Amino acid sequence: MTSRTVYVFDIGFQFLGTIDWRRAAWLVASNRAESLVDSDIPLRGDFLLPKVIRLLKAIRRMYRHGVTWNRRNLFVRDEYNCVYCGKNFPVSELTIDHVLPKSRGGVNSWEQTVSACKPCNNRKDNRTPHEAGMSFHQHGFRPHAPTVMEFFLTLLRQEGLDGVVKELLGLP
Ligand SMILES: [Zn+2]
Repeated sequence: MTSRTVYVFDIGFQFLGTIDWRRAAWLVASNRAESLVDSDIPLRGDFLLPKVIRLLKAIRRMYRHGVTWNRRNLFVRDEYNCVYCGKNFPVSELTIDHVLPKSRGGVNSWEQTVSACKPCNNRKDNRTPHEAGMSFHQHGFRPHAPTVMEFFLTLLRQEGLDGVVKELLGLP
């Protein structure tokens, strides 16, 4: 996630997703959105690139069906940590681990996949964590689909922005 990613809310302050900074700047410049939080990146004159915007017109939900399972979103959910050794890794060193191995019916879903580093994934091999004598580093961790808000706050935390936005939204 680059620092030029822009977070988007709808008019009712529901999180919609992230968009490219060019599109965000255009939305604000054309009065289709307002900036809730500016970045410190100047675009033109004293216009700062927005960091968080709110659309001023109602649009269709982007996350109507919850957060999509994919590689990138899985790593975000697990905060770029290997769930087995608990260490933090760059994306290039993370892999998708099927808790129940794929060869035995494991599927790509929030409940059946976790982020793992390559050494841990190799060690686990085609076995369940139990069979491999491995356990989740974080006690009580159960892989699950994040709610849209959980996912959003995780993204923001990774950019050190969750405090600002929580305050804006009146969240605890
Ligand atoms: Zn690991």
